[in-house]
Amino acid sequence: MSTTTANNTTAPTPPATARPTHPQRTLLGPGPSDVPPAVLAALARPTVGHLDPFFLQTMDELRTRLKQLFRTDNDMTLAVSGTGSAGMETLFVNLLEPGDKVLVGVNGVFGSRMADVAERCGGDVVTLEQPWGSVFTHGEILNAVDREKPALVALVHAETSTGAAQPVAGLGQAIRDRGALFILDCVTSLAGMPVEIDDWLVDAAYSGTQKCLSCPPGLAPITLSDRAVERIDRRKNKVQSWYLDLTMLRNYWGQDRVYHHTAPTNMLVALNEAARLALAEGLEPRWARHRDMHEIVRRGLTELGFAYLTAPEHTLPMLNAVTLPEGLDDATARRSLLDTHGIEVGAGLGPYKGKLWRIGLMGHSATQRNVTLLLAALRELLHAA
Ligand code: PLP
Repeated sequence: MSTTTANNTTAPTPPATARPTHPQRTLLGPGPSDVPPAVLAALARPTVGHLDPFFLQTMDELRTRLKQLFRTDNDMTLAVSGTGSAGMETLFVNLLEPGDKVLVGVNGVFGSRMADVAERCGGDVVTLEQPWGSVFTHGEILNAVDREKPALVALVHAETSTGAAQPVAGLGQAIRDRGALFILDCVTSLAGMPVEIDDWLVDAAYSGTQKCLSCPPGLAPITLSDRAVERIDRRKNKVQSWYLDLTMLRNYWGQDRVYHHTAPTNMLVALNEAARLALAEGLEPRWARHRDMHEIVRRGLTELGFAYLTAPEHTLPMLNAVTLPEGLDDATARRSLLDTHGIEVGAGLGPYKGKLWRIGLMGHSATQRNVTLLLAALRELLHAA
């Protein structure tokens, strides 16, 4: 076959192998998760301007929904243009001034990333470390706070590199009593397990869109308490990042609507739809669905010889970090799952590269159908191996 162009010359036909068709996957890794059709449809609606009255209403609706998802009344709740890491960076760059002490809990990749980001923002970073797969006791955290007297304490709620769930409830008051602000990474936890920003007295939290919210990657919901905002208002120095400066971003997200940057309108419309769907399901039922799917997949994976990195009481519902059974080669098996069944699972990171899988059942992906499909595919793979 060839194509004829307007001036009647014949264009060469590209080889059949030039570009594979866009695949339809079942996303069972550490994110992104499968996106529901209603969210994809929202993404494909006609683009509107970032100051269009319709869009401004959408932003207000989205802020209200994000507050409901975070379970907070914080006025400073918005979506940063960028992925979860941009949310992380926004909090540190706004809340830190050069030399401020930060205590960061490091028990996996994302704690390390927080420490790195905080240091780049000029923070005097002290890390509290635990082996991968473990979590911190509140006593360990508070002892370190007493010793180091940090201005900020930062923890990862759901450590996606290890599948560990950090207990948070009951910690906020003690951190507050010691005069520090409490930052929580909720990238993987939000909308998949309890996140109670106000009840837990968390001062600042960030998330991402591509995990349990099941929206494509690209935005970072954040929320800051009045105490955190006061700290920003008391800054002696300008926020080092122009793009992530909340003193300017709040004037766009607030009622003044002062232009800052061209907001990614289609993505925000899609996130608004994803948030609507999550709230329509109800947060408690959604958390329960994640927990139920986790229980089923845990039984199946254990029967097949996969072993969890974390203790059961500290295992995340939406992310199963498991070592591989004898005879299964990491890269070959993941490729086979993808090629034969269209299933994506995640590889291990850092010391667990090649040894661990990260199997996610997040948001729209957390279904009985996907669990059955995955376990059947794994059985087949193991049989062949
Ligand atoms: N924090 C956690 C716990 C994560 O799982 C991730 C991403 O997987 C991030 C932060 C960074 O988010 P992103 O990759 O969207 O920038």
